[in-house]
Amino acid sequence: MAEIAARLLQTAAKRDPDQKEFLQAVKTVVEGLIPLWEQRPELEEVMARLIEPERIFTFRVAWLDDHGKIQINRGFRVQYNSAIGPYKGGLRFHPSVNLSIIKFLGFDQIFKNSLTTLPMGGGKGGSDFDPKGKSDAEVMRFCQSFMTELFRYIGPNIDIPAGDIGVGAREIGYMYGQYKRLTHAVEGVLTGKGQTWGGSLIRPEATGFGGLYFASEMVAYQKQEIAGKTICVSGFGNVAWGACLKAAQLKAKVITISGPDGYVYDEEGINTPEKIAYLLRLRATCQDIVAPYAEQFPKSQFFPGKKPWERKCDIALPCATQNELDANDAAMLHANGCKFVVELSNMGCTHDALEYCQSHDMIYAPGIACNAGGVAVSGLEMTQNSIRLRWKAEEVDQHLQRIMKDIHKQCVEAMTQFHKPNDYVFGANAAGFLKVATAMIEQGCV
Ligand code: GLU
Repeated sequence: MAEIAARLLQTAAKRDPDQKEFLQAVKTVVEGLIPLWEQRPELEEVMARLIEPERIFTFRVAWLDDHGKIQINRGFRVQYNSAIGPYKGGLRFHPSVNLSIIKFLGFDQIFKNSLTTLPMGGGKGGSDFDPKGKSDAEVMRFCQSFMTELFRYIGPNIDIPAGDIGVGAREIGYMYGQYKRLTHAVEGVLTGKGQTWGGSLIRPEATGFGGLYFASEMVAYQKQEIAGKTICVSGFGNVAWGACLKAAQLKAKVITISGPDGYVYDEEGINTPEKIAYLLRLRATCQDIVAPYAEQFPKSQFFPGKKPWERKCDIALPCATQNELDANDAAMLHANGCKFVVELSNMGCTHDALEYCQSHDMIYAPGIACNAGGVAVSGLEMTQNSIRLRWKAEEVDQHLQRIMKDIHKQCVEAMTQFHKPNDYVFGANAAGFLKVATAMIEQGCV
């Protein structure tokens, strides 16, 4: 049924020939689902519908910089699919942001949110605004201006944005404040809120914690243990921080972090409370560099301009951005005996890298399964806001663990049913898609 995959991809490519990240995401899903098309060819029509977003908004964001000059950025919100719940997904502020990137993220978000077992549809948004080097006042003015456009499209029962790269608690706070001024409503319209005004405990750690829970399930499924494993992490943001924290608790050893300037190798492990807390301080400097870690902890080494995938490890954990691990990196990891690639960034591996892993007996699991812990705890934040209760950290963490186990189980069930052992790309996409497809069929031609 390669023809179905080719037809779906061709239609997408004909509509948006220049959207390379979006087409890469579509290719991974529709080609990964070939075994499903063989048994359920009638679902081609549903996937064709799903590939086209329900709604796209783009808007001008004008804001005043500290010199009194007007700056212009472009804002986006893609309301991709609402078959199983309100649109849900983050906002990314980064100079690379364009419609192709927001659409790829929104498309993957549909399947990710479906896997969480919670009733959430898929959406994504953001801007090409670069928070790097901006003053706090500039970030606030930008966020207020961004929300002045966005507020008319979102709501706690319609579309609930959250953070992503470049959008953390500070930005969510400024946007939430502006939403309240504009709507005169105090409601759970954003997730990732501050702890004193409706935010959920464990939300900042959730993606990293969830990723490690998923990795533990994958390793256990191969009859191995996570304790004692060596892990290479890329990035040094929230996701990498949460991953280091949970890895230390599970007695696995993270030996690298990275930034746009290069990577740090810490042979002893990034596992003490002091080192893990330092990651947060590094991020707070807003300089986007990891080199200072090696000055702070002199037994570690900084390698300028290089990626961490040249180090020997058991598990690779991309935690930064899309396409950060290519086929050469995958070959290096393989040569060094790495067995698991667990994607915590969205589409962290190139298509070639994932094909390399799959053809070289490495077990690769895609971001839609492994990094779903973040949006899952966002879903739990929505629940707490709705019932006006605040759960204890242990309670949220227990839900998160259960959800990540459940996601792994759904992947395994789909892989088993369709005879695709260890093909998590198939397992995650098939399980995520089938639930959304059923809802779309039941809701008729919309
Ligand atoms: N940006 C995160 C993701 O890629 C979280 C989204 C959310 O919490 O809504 O899944």
